[in-house]
Amino acid sequence: MNRREFAISLATEVSKLNYVNGTCCGQTSNTCFDVVDPATMTCIGQAPDSGEETVNAAVQSASKAFDTWAATPPLERSRILLAAVAAFEARVDDIAILISLETGRPFKTETRPEVVNAVKIMRYFAGMPLEAKGESFLYAPNVIALTVREPLGVVGAIIPWNVPAMLFCLKVTPALATGNTVVVKPAEQSPLSTMLLAKILGDHLPAGVLNVVNGMGETGQYVAQHPLISKLTFTGSVSVGKHIYRIAAERLVPVTLELGGKSPLIIFPDVPIEKAVQHTITGMRFSRQGQSCTSTTRIFVHDSIRTSFLDRLQFAVAAMKMGDPLDTDTEIGTLINREQVQRVCRFVEDARNAGVVVQTIGNQPTDSYFSNGCFLPAVLLLDPPMESPVVQQEIFGPVATIHSWNSFEQVESAANGTEFGLSACILTNSISDALTLARRLKAGFIQINSGMVIQPGISFGGYKSSGLGREASLSSMLEAFTQVKTIIVDHNRE
Ligand code: NAP
Ligand code: MG
Repeated sequence: MNRREFAISLATEVSKLNYVNGTCCGQTSNTCFDVVDPATMTCIGQAPDSGEETVNAAVQSASKAFDTWAATPPLERSRILLAAVAAFEARVDDIAILISLETGRPFKTETRPEVVNAVKIMRYFAGMPLEAKGESFLYAPNVIALTVREPLGVVGAIIPWNVPAMLFCLKVTPALATGNTVVVKPAEQSPLSTMLLAKILGDHLPAGVLNVVNGMGETGQYVAQHPLISKLTFTGSVSVGKHIYRIAAERLVPVTLELGGKSPLIIFPDVPIEKAVQHTITGMRFSRQGQSCTSTTRIFVHDSIRTSFLDRLQFAVAAMKMGDPLDTDTEIGTLINREQVQRVCRFVEDARNAGVVVQTIGNQPTDSYFSNGCFLPAVLLLDPPMESPVVQQEIFGPVATIHSWNSFEQVESAANGTEFGLSACILTNSISDALTLARRLKAGFIQINSGMVIQPGISFGGYKSSGLGREASLSSMLEAFTQVKTIIVDHNRE
């Protein structure tokens, strides 16, 4: 069996399934939709388009499992979650290859690192149940006040397709660690890998604690609206995020939103060109065709190094191998689907028609087997006006805008000049410039000379339209998945 056949066999194993009440529930073809491999545009499996009844069954099962799971001693919850992580770790390659097949992201540069990181995130939270502590203090001579942290109930987690395993773990594990039960709605583009992951973890969890209902946006809406859902956690676009927030407001349930971005990369003149180029390539996520919420899509390069930087950048991106996402030497994969290819091309054409200089970095797969695939070459847009759509809107494609700067105040104001505030990257050896700028940028996740992705223990989340709440750390787990109960004790003996 070659790698493609193996990936398709995994897809077939989890085709047409939801995970409800500890079992894989099969659906018939007429209630399923096709899952398409964007590298070949062939159908690789099907996923249920779950309706209200299925969502209700999943939420009911999570609700039934809640009391027992919440009352399970923290160390026992930790033991169970650690056993689930071990099973997950043993299948890292399988999950990564299935995500590559579903989403077109390359195995080597993208999905394997993602899944390895997802395991780390899960293991970090699996060790956390005992940390859901409250506070106590002596309020008056005979009065002790204490707080305990309790789980919220059934958590509804709605996730996108672009890093499905990592985002699954970022939501599911802290929720479970603190004693909640969960219903996950995966993205319609990555239902199979999420299903495989749920099946692997579910074998180690009590029935009903983790449920997955596949489907389209409407399925997510049923989850969000269900009266037994006590918390919503969503990652995705700003428009759907606002919709979820409105539903949550109506029902008065807490919500965490991780939304889009339009992040700046700010390159100072003291940075070696090669370092600037490497940070641009990783920051832009060219290997993922730019489809990351934290992609540094606006590159602010100091005037004095602009020409040599652009020359080297083009050369380095052109050298990256585009092709079969499953191959272990492919560095750049596909966009998620045809609609997204067309949407990205429209942004570029509109910019060209408005007079912006467009530089295309001619990268294409060599194998004709992929001639129908959703591949696009990388695009640099030189100096588009700050108010133009390509600078203001999230394109979610391999398109970076290039801007020159020569004054600190100018770059600070330009970098802050969008509705987004997810992340930013600053490259300079001047600690005072770097920290001053970092303090002034209105974004939630700022890296100085660093290009890390979300890591366990480090809070992640956005300012402005990029979201509400934080993920990935102990403090964010407590904030997002527990509620505080105060107990006051008067122990006066009279
Ligand atoms: P999306 O269209 O907003 O979808 C996200 C999830 O919401 C999917 O499961 C989707 O289902 C579901 N959904 C759609 N309409 C819904 C509705 N009316 N009610 C409830 N759920 C609904 O986002 P996407 O295109 O999958 O992902 C790309 C976006 O995610 C980008 O904007 C990116 O920046 C953002 N993102 C943010 C972060 C972060 O941490 N800040 C990380 C990764 C991605 P369907 O799949 O069926 O539409
Ligand atoms: Mg969508």
